[in-house]
Amino acid sequence: MSFFIKRLAVVGVGLIGGSFAQALREQDLVGEVIGVARSQRTLDKARELGVIDSGTLDPQQGVAGAQFVLVAPPVCAIVPTVQQFAPALSRGAVVTDAGSVKGSIVAPCEQLMPEGCHFVGSHPIAGRERSGVEAAFPALFQGSRTILTPTERTAPAALERVRVAWEACGSQVEVMAADHHDRVLAATSHLPHLMAYNVVKTLSDLEQDIQAEVFRYAASGFRDFTRIASSDPTMWRDICLENRTAICEVLQRFRGDLDVLLELVSNSDGEALHDVFARSRATRERVLKENKILRTP
Ligand code: NAP
Repeated sequence: MSFFIKRLAVVGVGLIGGSFAQALREQDLVGEVIGVARSQRTLDKARELGVIDSGTLDPQQGVAGAQFVLVAPPVCAIVPTVQQFAPALSRGAVVTDAGSVKGSIVAPCEQLMPEGCHFVGSHPIAGRERSGVEAAFPALFQGSRTILTPTERTAPAALERVRVAWEACGSQVEVMAADHHDRVLAATSHLPHLMAYNVVKTLSDLEQDIQAEVFRYAASGFRDFTRIASSDPTMWRDICLENRTAICEVLQRFRGDLDVLLELVSNSDGEALHDVFARSRATRERVLKENKILRTP
């Protein structure tokens, strides 16, 4: 049988890396999956779950002989990891990553590729609050979007291979420049995550200050709104460090809007408050309608 990818190396076998391997396996597109992790425990678990066929703690050994490599550790570890394994890549290998930030990753990884190997940046806009290989499942990317961030130097055939792989996982692929990706995601994903973390922090501080059981009376709105505050802190620390400029810009903007809201509430300006809420509700309803075929990230 000839596979689309004879040997796939997944460097960072967690939620995203594990789900990618499982999705491609389900489609019979991959012959053999080699996992690379930091701990033997993760490799043992991944093998037990059937996510990988074999595993190693040595990234160079893991990528040797692979035609396709997915790099999926936390964002700050992506470039150092690629640097570590790049000399061992086989000629013709296509390397992609899953990092939630692209600007600080794509150019250095492209530079690190040996002659005849290719790097294409990817970001699957799919996920959940749980992490680790135990949380992986093959349908994770079904109905999601994946953004690819090629550059002028990207070989069209490498871009095509990466596109086919994500589409096989059930994702709709879009292409944009890395910097543009980072500005868009700062607003649509990074800002809401920071807000959710911060709402929980504010309530927790308040509970201590006023010695009241704030959380006991938290309604389902609290649960919905703060669901993403259960996300992995390492992942979100890394995203903030690597997308600092775009996140600061959008936070400043949000702070401006929050100041306006504070003023409207303190001035009891009911008409203006109604106006803000009505406009936001209309925007949300329009966005949900327009994106009805896509799952939220
Ligand atoms: P995860 O479940 O925590 O898996 C991360 C994997 O990377 C684990 O196998 C871990 O190995 C390994 N790892 C952790 N720190 C490392 C380091 N310093 N050096 C090398 N390997 C390391 O994370 P994930 O949710 O799959 O996220 C992986 C990537 O996908 C991140 O870059 C994230 O930005 C991106 N992403 C995540 C989501 C999401 O919602 N989760 C969505 C889109 C993109 P051990 O288990 O051995 O520690």
